[in-house]
Amino acid sequence: MKAVKFQNQKVIMVDAPMPDISEHEALIKILMAGICATDVELYKGYQDFQGIPGHEFVGIVEKAPQAPEIVGKRVVVDINIGCGQCLRCRNGDARHCPLRRVVGIRGQDGGFAEYCAVPVDNLRVLPEGLETIDAVFAEPLAAALEIAQQVHIRNDTKLAVMGDGKMGLLCAFALNHYSTRVTIIGRHAEKLELAAAQGISTCNTSDMPPEMLEQRLKGAFDVVVEASGNPDAINQAVKLTAPEGTIVVKTTSHQPSKINLAELVVNELTILGSRCGDIGFAVKCLGNRWVHVASLVDSVYSFADFPKAFEHAMAPGSKKILLAFE
Ligand SMILES: [Zn+2]
Ligand SMILES: [Zn+2]
Repeated sequence: MKAVKFQNQKVIMVDAPMPDISEHEALIKILMAGICATDVELYKGYQDFQGIPGHEFVGIVEKAPQAPEIVGKRVVVDINIGCGQCLRCRNGDARHCPLRRVVGIRGQDGGFAEYCAVPVDNLRVLPEGLETIDAVFAEPLAAALEIAQQVHIRNDTKLAVMGDGKMGLLCAFALNHYSTRVTIIGRHAEKLELAAAQGISTCNTSDMPPEMLEQRLKGAFDVVVEASGNPDAINQAVKLTAPEGTIVVKTTSHQPSKINLAELVVNELTILGSRCGDIGFAVKCLGNRWVHVASLVDSVYSFADFPKAFEHAMAPGSKKILLAFE
């Protein structure tokens, strides 16, 4: 089968063997996949991942020895696969299993290939009415929705999302259902417009020196979601957060961040990391059309054109790049 690998900051298409499935796994034929900022980080060397990347995808179950009833169904995948033995796993939390594999990111091949093998337990069957092109956002939307599982967001919580990239917009779209006072801060007018179209306040900083933003919005938000992808943006998030407020960190950069802790201490801020969320909840939100993601699609490439698609995904200002399989 055709598959993608990242090697020494190069994208290569390889002929990989068809995945073997064990008794409790399913063979998934990929229908559509999305390229995420994490893929770009993997390409740069994050996690030193040597397998097949791709963790945002929709597929159709081709084989599932243990669950024949789901053969032929469209599915998305909860990407965290726990060891099943450790204390975290036994408490039902595979996401934080120290030995976990993560589909397309760590120890488990992903969906930038014609087929992929994943445990049946990690599959979520899609409702009939949910289009594949929307469902492909389930994994990143779950990560956006996770914020509201971690922080108590009230209808009047003043909430800012820093970054108008794919994750920033998705966080704003998702959190807009929890608070009526969401502002997205970014540098791309056309992307901020997508948020404005969903009733979200916007702040364009493209020709604003950083000091001006910090002055104007100092301590203005109860919750600041840092989703800019910039390892230094955390210091700006500290400035924008109100005393006793919370900074939610979504950026996972290959570069380390340097953070000035004094202000954090003086203002008694909480800093909270936020990763994956419940993909079943994301499927529900998409299936019920509570969150609208269509405007986030930039282009759909054929899987055979992956190198071109990836180059497009790396270009500054691109929105979600999707891959359609035969
Ligand atoms: Zn992702
Ligand atoms: Zn475990």
